Amino acid sequence: ADSVVSAVARALEHADAVRRLEVRANADTPEGAARARRFGAQGIGLCRTEHMFLGERRKLVEEMILARTDADRDRALAALLPLQRRDFTGILEAMDGLPVTIRLLDPPLHEFLPDRTDLAVRIAAAEAAGGQPDAHDVELLDAVSRMHEENPMLGLRGVRLGLVVPGLAAMQVRAIAEAVVERTRAGGSPRAEIMVPLVGAVEELRLAREEVTRVLAEVGEETGVPLPCPVGTMIELPRAALTAGRIAEEAEFFSFGTNDLTQTTWGFSRDDVEAAFFAAYLDKGVFAASPFETLDREGVGRLVRIAVEEGRAARPDLETGVCGEHGGDPESIRFFHDVGLDYVSCSPFRVPVARLEAGRAALGSTGSSDSR
Ligand code: PEP
Ligand code: MG
Repeated sequence: ADSVVSAVARALEHADAVRRLEVRANADTPEGAARARRFGAQGIGLCRTEHMFLGERRKLVEEMILARTDADRDRALAALLPLQRRDFTGILEAMDGLPVTIRLLDPPLHEFLPDRTDLAVRIAAAEAAGGQPDAHDVELLDAVSRMHEENPMLGLRGVRLGLVVPGLAAMQVRAIAEAVVERTRAGGSPRAEIMVPLVGAVEELRLAREEVTRVLAEVGEETGVPLPCPVGTMIELPRAALTAGRIAEEAEFFSFGTNDLTQTTWGFSRDDVEAAFFAAYLDKGVFAASPFETLDREGVGRLVRIAVEEGRAARPDLETGVCGEHGGDPESIRFFHDVGLDYVSCSPFRVPVARLEAGRAALGSTGSSDSR
């Protein structure tokens, strides 16, 4: 076993010496970040913040989204701020000196709201028992019904959420900024980057970025600590890829969210890929592999290429990476090398494979480096 281990270590060393793609990892906890680092990740390419709002904090999110008054909403946000700050401090500490790309909240709304049917059943049960339903339940049902969406994945998520829920993005940015201040004062070298999800139009990113810049300046002024956090966007809608030249005016980096980009390009639901027709499609040869596993070069890949080219034409120093599942898929990594991305970001466990594959891609020893 020892010789296998040292052979792998040598192969990784060799790959690291030749590869041009940087390899980062997706992680959203200090433990995940530490693990990524042990596997050789050169940063966090995607720190999702959705999980940070679950569990006990769900109640606060519910209060924030359904708040009747500004004061109610501000109270919920104020309670969330120190919790978020602690989340980010831990991750920045684990990745000290390396870039950590933190994405602003991007959940489909239904994941946070109480279930309409549950509420309706509770109310009906109380009434059937001849009693009064809980007033809070009635109020909640009313609010949740007003916000109900038939297609939440195409609804109020990503940058849209940040733009319509006052104070949400500002709270997250403040938490990031204060975590950077805390780590800096502790002698660390935090390198936080702020990423805006699900952007389809430069105007959305401009508005989001204005808010980010305002809060960074505020915290910088309050603390006297410089906050040079780059601001960028995910490219996960065809419209974003097709207008990349415009979007690059407001973005210091692009990170391709190929999970959503595959979903929106093909019109396949990423949450239902188990559906029977996928097996039939593979069987009939519509595609050779699920486009959610191996990047579809002709369609999704073409959009990636267009976005890289137009983005760089508009902003030569634009940084580009991928943080969808494809970032850890060998076949797709060869494409990302060919198209000239700066990095791939994948699950911590896939980091070694990604390092090896990026090395092989650089050596051109793959035998399939066609770059349609
Ligand atoms: C993506 O869409 O590819 C992505 C990385 O974001 P998420 O999977 O969180 O939607
Ligand atoms: Mg996405």
